[in-house]
Amino acid sequence: MSYIEIKGLFKTFGDRRAGGVLALDNIHCSIAEGSFVSVVGPSGCGKSTLMRIIAGLLDYSEGSVVMDGQPIRGTRRDVGVVFQSSILLPWRTILENVMLPAEVLGLDLKAARERAMDLLRLVRLEGFEHKLPRQLSGGMQQRASIARALLHDPKILLMDEPFGALDAMTREQMNLELQRIWAESGKTVILITHSIPEAIFLGDVVFVMTPRPGTLERVIPVRVPRPRRMEAMGTPAFAEVADQIRELFDHTGSFD
Ligand code: ADP
Ligand code: MG
Repeated sequence: MSYIEIKGLFKTFGDRRAGGVLALDNIHCSIAEGSFVSVVGPSGCGKSTLMRIIAGLLDYSEGSVVMDGQPIRGTRRDVGVVFQSSILLPWRTILENVMLPAEVLGLDLKAARERAMDLLRLVRLEGFEHKLPRQLSGGMQQRASIARALLHDPKILLMDEPFGALDAMTREQMNLELQRIWAESGKTVILITHSIPEAIFLGDVVFVMTPRPGTLERVIPVRVPRPRRMEAMGTPAFAEVADQIRELFDHTGSFD
């Protein structure tokens, strides 16, 4: 079943006749419930814009964006968001950070605390709940951010280059963790990434965007069996998808 349905979506920043920027140009796509969608594309092609629209954080100019049968208008409770740099509050403990959405949304704090502890186990941070963010590594902070994004039990998790600041080893570890969290939580996940291998490793499909400007160039299915292990990256099925993506970027210009 299609959980998100986007039709004829345009987004212009500013007045187009007066030098405004066309950031999204006629996007059509549908996203199945419970699926994992990776989004790749050169810098400035509109990935974050698309994500912010789906999150209800940004208005769009034309088209329709429907989630779970309802047009998106403003922020909604069934969405959780993780950004590139973890935006944990430095003076709050990990548990207090994960609890933040409960305070903002006015949820029952006792129930939220129990859920926060469960989520900290899910992201393997049990024992660190009373530490401050600076006492944790970058990867651990990002895992805490994921737990926080899941606190209010959203149906969909949106992630905008969440592992960009991590070293390669930690990043691989986070990819394995995210695959497990996705499989165990049953959420629909949209992951924006600069890494083609990361996009393929995690995605059921890869959305390839190009700057022409802001077009969704291709939706490529990834037919690599799950659960995937890092070794899957060396298989022909994996290489074939990577080649398809690189070819699209060769045709349409730069990729950073
Ligand atoms: P990406 O995430 O793929 O790097 P963005 O979605 O951030 O790209 O940006 C797409 C285009 O829209 C870029 O040309 C960018 O400069 C422009 N843009 C993004 N946000 C704004 C804004 N608030 N005001 C004006 N232009 C913007
Ligand atoms: Mg971006």
